[in-house]
Amino acid sequence: MLRFRLTMGLMCLVVVMLAMGLFAIDRCSQLGKQFQIFLVESDAAGHTALAIKRSTGRLLGAALSRLSGNWEPSRYDFAAESRELEERLKDLARGVTDKTRPGEEGTEGERSAAERLLTSYGAFAAKARLFLEGEEKPFAQWRVVASGLGDEAANVLEIADQLTAAHHEAVRESRNAVAAGVNQTIRALILAMIIAVVAAIYTCSRLTRGLLEPLTSLNASINRVADGNLDQEIPVLSQDELGLLARAFNRMATHLKFYRNSTSEELMRLNQIIRSTLASFPDPIFVLNAGGAVEFRNPAADQLALRLLFSGMRRLPEEVERKVEEVRASGRDYLPTGYRDCLRFKIDGSDKYVLPRIVLLRDSAALIFGVAVILEDVTRMRLVDDMKSNLVATVSHELKTPLTSIRLALYLILEQTVGGLNPKQQKLMTTARDETDRVLRTLNDLLDLSRLDHGTHVMERTLALPGDIVESAVREARVAAEEAGITLESIVGDGLGDAPLPAVSVDLQRISYVFANLLTNAIKYSPSGSTVTFRCVRDGDDGQMLRFEVRDRGPGIAEEHHARLFERFYRVKGTAKTGAGLGLSIAHDIVLAHDGRIGVKSRPGEGSTFYVLLPAAPAPAPAEGPAASNPAPTP
Ligand code: ADP
Repeated sequence: MLRFRLTMGLMCLVVVMLAMGLFAIDRCSQLGKQFQIFLVESDAAGHTALAIKRSTGRLLGAALSRLSGNWEPSRYDFAAESRELEERLKDLARGVTDKTRPGEEGTEGERSAAERLLTSYGAFAAKARLFLEGEEKPFAQWRVVASGLGDEAANVLEIADQLTAAHHEAVRESRNAVAAGVNQTIRALILAMIIAVVAAIYTCSRLTRGLLEPLTSLNASINRVADGNLDQEIPVLSQDELGLLARAFNRMATHLKFYRNSTSEELMRLNQIIRSTLASFPDPIFVLNAGGAVEFRNPAADQLALRLLFSGMRRLPEEVERKVEEVRASGRDYLPTGYRDCLRFKIDGSDKYVLPRIVLLRDSAALIFGVAVILEDVTRMRLVDDMKSNLVATVSHELKTPLTSIRLALYLILEQTVGGLNPKQQKLMTTARDETDRVLRTLNDLLDLSRLDHGTHVMERTLALPGDIVESAVREARVAAEEAGITLESIVGDGLGDAPLPAVSVDLQRISYVFANLLTNAIKYSPSGSTVTFRCVRDGDDGQMLRFEVRDRGPGIAEEHHARLFERFYRVKGTAKTGAGLGLSIAHDIVLAHDGRIGVKSRPGEGSTFYVLLPAAPAPAPAEGPAASNPAPTP
């Protein structure tokens, strides 16, 4: 339809231009004809008059020659010339100017002058023939003939002049007619041009109105939709392509509106669900935007903010902000479990402990767009834990002194410095001594734990070479290993001649406890005759970590226990050996305090490998001795 309208508009212009062109061609051809007639006429009448004048002149010349006796009839065929001229005059008199173009007639004046000239020339020619072709006469007779010929010649020349004048008049008329025709053609062409321009303007305006106006209105509506205003409807004014476009747009706007309404409802419902769910959480939850400002708080967070007097502020307390920044920088969520990581606030004059859990919020492209901060209130649990720890510490401490005395007494009795023992007594005393040792060890562990919990133990870090640490731990464990029939093996470095391992900055007493505990466990849980390996190598992509690992060939530990092995008092069910389940948890706390990591790799029946990762000290380590950097099996 639109194509039809465009075609029609353009056809209109083509028709106007075609009409103009045809008209111009027609007028030009008419003017050309007129011009041709004008030329022909000027040819025929003008030339005939001139020829008659020449012929008359020549004849008079010939007559005079004859009178003087010099006549040469062979040089001049007057008869043929006069006949041809008479023929031409006859044509002129009849009004025929060009025999090849019948219908082309001369003017009235030309015709009458030609008739008269024909009569006059005919008479002159008859006398001239008589004079020229007659026989020789006496001079007196020639004079009579010649005098009549002179009169006739004068008459012919006068009428020839009249024909020339009539011819000039005809030429002037023709020229005027051609000029008038040209003017008329120019006027007609100007008129046709004006009509063509008007028609073109009209067609263009119709097309513009019919095409551009709907498109402009569509464009405006699309822009409004893009700006979010979906209440758009374009009037459908035609059934052509533009009408179809308008209809399609209206349908799209309706669908978009419906989709937005339903999406908005769904979003509002989801938002309500999330808000209600978060509101039901007893722990304060803050959601921060990418700029760090608090964007959402649940009621518990509102209360906390109010009590901590940062309700008017758009930011969290400084300690939490710092943690959030650390989490953002590391890109890893912060999900602590131990009370050691809780933060303390003063509320209403008393201490409040919260455990901050910081979760990074990411979009579908894994880009961080915010952070959720959950502040779990652990004040009560912390108090209970404190009480428990204090109790354990007090009880352990109270028990330790008498137990140490008992242990000393038992050792003295067993050494028989205070008297002899029979075998039965000796056996009983040995059992009592072992049990006392075990209980004392447990008490020491408990006291250690309590000190770690309260942070009362100040870390005394010194730089130590991995080789020294390994060697010292192996030396300490050697007696126990020999008693259990276990071979201890130590390896420092990968033995490929690489650079000496860097030093680590550790609290030697604490870190020795860790490796002693791992070695004791490995010896305790390994079958007699097997080998326990203590190895230290570089670790991490940049080699800036040191990996200490204790590998045994014992029963191994099933996967499901791995995560809990480092919890307090956790022991794998069915473990035959005695123990309190505290050693690994103490080791775990110590390693964490060194910014390290501890873990296990083990499968039932394949032995266990406990590893500790410690960061290398930044200062360049002193070179190690060759003995320490090479694998050196220790018997
Ligand atoms: P415990 O005093 O009981 O050894 P730990 O904390 O040192 O306490 O160990 C916790 C538990 O882990 C142990 O009871 C034991 O079940 C398991 N375990 C530790 N080390 C090993 C090992 N090398 N091989 C097998 N099991 C082990």
